Amino acid sequence: MTHDAAVLKAREISNGVLTPSAGQNDKAGKFSSEAIEALGNAGLLGLMLPAEFGGAGLGPRTLAAVTATLAEADASVAMVYLMHILGTAMIAAARPGIAEAVAPVLREIGAGLHLTTLAISEAGSRSHFWAPVSRAHRNGKGVRISAKKSWVTSAGHAHSYVVSTLAPEGSGPTDSTVYLVAAETRGLSIAGPWDGLGLRANASAPIALEECEVSTDFQLTDDSAGFPTMMSVLLPLFNLGSAAVALGLCRAAVAATVTHLKNARFEHLGQSLGESLPTLRAHLAEMQIETDSLAALIDDLVEHLEEPRDTTLLRVMESKAAAGETAISVTSTAMRVCGGAAFSKHLGVERLFRDAHAGAVMAPTADVMREFIGKSLLGIPLF
Ligand SMILES: Cc1cc2nc3c(=O)[nH]c(=O)nc-3n(C[C@H](O)[C@H](O)[C@H](O)COP(=O)(O)OP(=O)(O)OC[C@H]3O[C@@H](n4cnc5c(N)ncnc54)[C@H](O)[C@@H]3O)c2cc1C
Repeated sequence: MTHDAAVLKAREISNGVLTPSAGQNDKAGKFSSEAIEALGNAGLLGLMLPAEFGGAGLGPRTLAAVTATLAEADASVAMVYLMHILGTAMIAAARPGIAEAVAPVLREIGAGLHLTTLAISEAGSRSHFWAPVSRAHRNGKGVRISAKKSWVTSAGHAHSYVVSTLAPEGSGPTDSTVYLVAAETRGLSIAGPWDGLGLRANASAPIALEECEVSTDFQLTDDSAGFPTMMSVLLPLFNLGSAAVALGLCRAAVAATVTHLKNARFEHLGQSLGESLPTLRAHLAEMQIETDSLAALIDDLVEHLEEPRDTTLLRVMESKAAAGETAISVTSTAMRVCGGAAFSKHLGVERLFRDAHAGAVMAPTADVMREFIGKSLLGIPLF
């Protein structure tokens, strides 16, 4: 599959599956299994997976374009997709000793039949994803894990969870190990409902692991190597993908605002809103400028990921912080420009506004990114 073919498939799925049901799924808080099936059938669940597992072997440029395209139609589905791609990247990066054990899972992903996700954040350490408070305990040929994972996108719908926990003998707060835990593992349960302000259809419920037994065959990283692996494998793609979700939301907000300004009319003036009011045109222009600036930032990040250089980590951190703010700003302006029609939920703009607020609080949060950017500029260690 080429880059263009992947984006075209994402567009077709967005138009055919996501757009018709996004509003209803948001209202009902319903996870879209239909969307995941369509993404699997189209070969998009294996987007970045090597061809030997049936994947498309595509890179960050395509991930950004596909994720933004999905988010334009339904940010909940886009975030489910992103978490799956990240979980897949962690499984594909598994330590060499377990390549044979995880190969069947990767082949299922390549065949579009397996959805995975990340179970990193814990109730005890909140947004500090780098510091799990749970710990794995040695148990025969594996470990036993008990953990309270506070928000897990696709909870109850994923076939597997990529779980971080402190290594059995780890001594520091970031001495974590990452495991692949099958959904049907005894002791794993959905610990509560998901009823969020935004991203309501992505099932980001808490999960509990109670004495879950996991074989060494599914220990994805070496002991205490979870944190550096998450930093090198997850952070760049998560920040890129989050920025792409933000871009999709901004584009959808601009499109909805244009439609409204063209169609809504002052009958007594014989003009559309857009024809009548220069202030609204100026607000719309500002939304477009912010959206295109975010697109340029994402393109720049893609280039930094394709050809890493000294400034790559800085760009990775900046992109998520900036994208979250841009999405909030652009969708907030859309709410104002579209007036009562947006406020009373006629237009679907308020779903974009609510969804946009998730990006800033998803770890690494926008404020944590700012803190790290400041530290790195001053030469202070990040952790
Ligand atoms: C829709 C959604 C989906 C999610 N999906 C997943 C998932 O699939 N997997 C997963 O593992 N997690 C997931 N999460 C969890 C997410 O990554 C965060 O862990 C969670 O949102 C943090 O919320 P909190 O209330 O615990 O934040 P807190 O840690 O209590 O933070 C509160 C405020 O303090 C700020 N803050 C905290 N520490 C610092 C610091 N050092 N410097 C500056 N400011 C700081 C934060 O930015 C925030 O504004 C999801 C969250 C949401 C909302």
